[in-house]
Parts: sequence; structure tokens; C-alpha cells
Amino acid sequence: MIEDLKKLKIGRIDVNIDLKKYCTYKVGGIGKVLVIPDNEQCLLKLMKYIKKNNIKYKILGNGSNLIFGDFDGILIKLDKFNNLEINDTIIKVGAGYSLIKLATKVSKLGLSGLEFATGIPGSVGGAVYMNAGAYKTDMGYIVSEVKVITKDLEIKKLYNRDLNYHYRDSLFQHGEYIILEAKIILKKGNKNEILDIIENRKQRRLMSQPLEYPSAGSVFRNPTNDFAGRLIEDIGYKGKTVGGAMVSPKHANFIINYNNAKTEDVINLINDIKKEVKEKYKIDLICEQEIVE
Ligand SMILES: Cc1cc2nc3c(=O)[nH]c(=O)nc-3n(C[C@H](O)[C@H](O)[C@H](O)COP(=O)(O)OP(=O)(O)OC[C@H]3O[C@@H](n4cnc5c(N)ncnc54)[C@H](O)[C@@H]3O)c2cc1C
Repeated sequence: MIEDLKKLKIGRIDVNIDLKKYCTYKVGGIGKVLVIPDNEQCLLKLMKYIKKNNIKYKILGNGSNLIFGDFDGILIKLDKFNNLEINDTIIKVGAGYSLIKLATKVSKLGLSGLEFATGIPGSVGGAVYMNAGAYKTDMGYIVSEVKVITKDLEIKKLYNRDLNYHYRDSLFQHGEYIILEAKIILKKGNKNEILDIIENRKQRRLMSQPLEYPSAGSVFRNPTNDFAGRLIEDIGYKGKTVGGAMVSPKHANFIINYNNAKTEDVINLINDIKKEVKEKYKIDLICEQEIVE
């Protein structure tokens, strides 16, 4: 497979990669191959090869919502899809662009709508896929169009009304799409007010989240009218450990890799929490993070 991929001349190909370096939890084993396609044509060529040979693949953003095990298929990273065009309040941005970088840049231009995203360490593609959000808003409010490759390898534009955006949920999580680019519509605002909001929230996050440890942010979606963190605290799990993984003593809905955690440590801790919360509250917590193996 590696030789075939090299012959395609589609971009950078890395083999036997250490997956710990590609997810913010810093867990995982070996990834057989990682491709960074040079452009859309190269990505299409790669996808044709993948489909023809029925090979397992996964699009990787910044790995800030993933729990890696080993992966013997093809990982695809869209780092080269990092175009950015700002036209008044309309932004066209590539899937590989950093969400924090984008949110910081537009905020400094006095554009409002992405203030919530300055603490979300994902790519634009990952945020569009996850419907990333915070402070009662999310990508669903600002994304107007998304350019994708469909499972039949057609390049298509999808519009907000098609995307079925709900709390941490989108069409993309229920189909096979590669997100190439998003069109985002912001509003003109007061630059100083926007930057104040961002600074305030940054200070709050530093106080309330264990940002000094590797993690992938909130583990569970909040159940309707409740908070996953409250339920986890109530079952006495703050500070609970499995191997090198720990429920953060600072924020109960964060699991941190505090001491060389293994993939299984994180997964076992997640399962223990789900079991306890189900037993005590009859609530099925939904894990926001994805196991990739
Ligand atoms: C400290 C910390 C704080 C966080 N805070 C928040 C928060 O406040 N709110 C929030 O919502 N999340 C938060 N997160 C979680 C995470 O940052 C978001 O879910 C983010 O959107 C994931 O983006 P990513 O690029 O890292 O995606 P990845 O983790 O790489 O991938 C996530 C999913 O998206 C898919 N995907 C990625 N790119 C594409 C693409 N181009 N096409 C198709 N599919 C794609 C992947 O295949 C995978 O299924 C936080 C994480 C950390 C570590």
C-alpha cells in the first residue's frame, strides 16, 4: 500500500507514526500511514485509491476530540487546506485552518461571532464536523456553506439548512463527507468589547479547566437541563484514577492524562463513569469524544 501511495504523488506520506503526537490526550499506539495531500486533486486521487481498494481511512483534524488506539488504515490530515479569505463580514476558510487562529484574527478585526472559539484547539474542519461551541453558541449559528467531498467522490456545496446542526451534532457525524472549506458569516462589532469578552473568558477557563494537562476537553455532552460535570462530581469521581488517567479535580467533565495514560485507561474511566451515573441517576451519558482504532 505504501508503495502505491508514493506512486500517486499526492503529497507527504509518513509511515508508522506515533499517534500520541496527533491527539491532545497524548494517548495511542502506531498509525500505519498518514497522508497530507497537497491539494483537492491529490485528495480526490487518494480517495479514489482508498475506495477502489476498500481501505479503512480517517480524516484527522487537530486530534482534540479523539482517543487514539492503533490505526492500521490511512489517516488523512488536511494541513494544506489552510486558505483564508476575509471579505467584509464573510469568511471563506480551509478545513485545515486552526480555529483559535481564525477566531483571534477576526476578533482583532472587530468581527463578532467567533468569540466562543478562542479556547477550542481544533481545526475548522473538526469544528464544523463536531458543531463545536461554548457559551450557548456554536458553529451552527455562523456557518452558512460547507464545501465537501461526498462518499461518491463528488465535490458539493451544502448549506446551513442541510447541516442538521444541533448541540454538538451535525449531518457530518452521520454520513461520509470530507469537509474542505467553510463559509462563515460574522457581524460587525466593537473590537475592544470583543477582545474584553475573550480575555474575560480566557481567565475563567484558566481557573476552571485543567489546561496544564493533556485532555480532549469535555468528555460527555451535558444531558438536557443538567451538567455532566455535576453528575460526575455527585458520584464522587473527582480525582478518580484508572492507570494514568484521572477525572480532573478541577473540572469533573475533563479526563486528564496525568501520568502516561494508555488508551485503555481513558476508555475504562469513561465506561466506569457511565456505569455509575446510569446506576445512580438512570441517565445515559453520551461521550463527546471519539475512539479511533
Ligand atoms: C482543552 C480543550 C478544550 C476544549 N473546549 C471545547 C469547547 O469549549 N467546545 C467544544 O465544542 N469542544 C471543545 N473541545 C473539543 C475539540 O477541540 C472540538 O471538538 C474540536 O472541534 C475538534 O476539532 P479537531 O480538528 O481537533 O477534530 P479531531 O479531534 O481531529 O476530529 C474530530 C472528528 O472530526 C472529524 N473531522 C475533522 N476534520 C474533518 C474534515 N475536514 N472533514 C471531515 N471530518 C473531519 C474527524 O474525523 C473526527 O471524527 C476542547 C478540547 C480541548 C483539548
